Amino acid sequence: MSVSVDSLSDLVVERVGFGIFVLDREMNVLMWNRFMQDHSGLSSEQVVGKSLFTHFPELPRVWFSRKLESVFQLGSFAFSSWEQRPYLFRFDHDRPITGGVDFMQQDVTFMPLTRDREVVAVCVTISDVTHVSIVQREREEAVAKLQEYADRDGLTGIANRRFFEAHLRDEFTRWQRYGGDMSMLLFDLDHFKKINDQFGHGVGDTVLRVMAQRVAGVVRAQDTFGRFGGEEFALLLPCTPLADAMRVAEKIRGVIADTPVEVQGTSVPVTASVGGAGARVGVPAYDVLINEADAALYSAKRQGRNRSVSFG
Ligand code: GH3
Ligand code: MG
Ligand code: MG
Repeated sequence: MSVSVDSLSDLVVERVGFGIFVLDREMNVLMWNRFMQDHSGLSSEQVVGKSLFTHFPELPRVWFSRKLESVFQLGSFAFSSWEQRPYLFRFDHDRPITGGVDFMQQDVTFMPLTRDREVVAVCVTISDVTHVSIVQREREEAVAKLQEYADRDGLTGIANRRFFEAHLRDEFTRWQRYGGDMSMLLFDLDHFKKINDQFGHGVGDTVLRVMAQRVAGVVRAQDTFGRFGGEEFALLLPCTPLADAMRVAEKIRGVIADTPVEVQGTSVPVTASVGGAGARVGVPAYDVLINEADAALYSAKRQGRNRSVSFG
């Protein structure tokens, strides 16, 4: 038994896993394959001979007409990627409910069908690229998550020193250009070595975590709070004069010292010393501000700890 080439190609067009339809210059549908039928719920009989917009008034008419007209005029292919336009037809996708992807994501090609050098019709193909878009979205989310981890301290979850210093540098540059106020605090837990020695390193870690949480709970959203070193933390306060920053310093000292940390049934008293410095004329660079806060912190330690001292 022989099968004609024509009926074979008909079979292929019906069976392929992407949409194929053909339009004339007036947007009338000349052909509509099985994929288009299955996904639109409209049979070839219902669609062929009518304008595409009769059944799909929601299609972007201006965009679509322009695209089609260019193919008729130039006789060349046109393409639209899901990244530019996520979908043309509102087809369901066969994925489990996935965040963000509402309809089947589609790549679209417009192919001129020529006879004697004249474009007589345009064949449009619709490919389901939902899986690609999901993989891409997952990749972007993973990169964003990695980026966030890169900015955070592993033990406490707050900003790490690199992130803190980058913010301080930006804020300092802003201050140099526009003036106003900005301050920073450095604080360091007192006799932390003793806490480790007495209760163990694990308890020490818990104390660090609890302290970071407590302080994070009292700082303002626009402030940047970071772990500066082992048991040393830093707070950047944009648009804040040093006098106001020192009130914040006292609040932080209080939130640390007022309540001992309960770990594994033992009560661990903790205190901290705080040093503060404010940007002002004559401070040439952000790291000078860090050194000043550090000098003030050292002074607080020398004066007996559990206190806050401002530079200058
Ligand atoms: P001071 O009041 O002068 O600050 O005394 P200190 O004992 O806190 O200061 P020192 O800098 O001598 O010791 C800091 C200690 O903090 C030593 C180090 O083992 C401990 N430490 C640093 N990072 C961590 C950490 O991630 N976990 C724990 N448990 N301990 C840490
Ligand atoms: Mg210490
Ligand atoms: Mg220290």
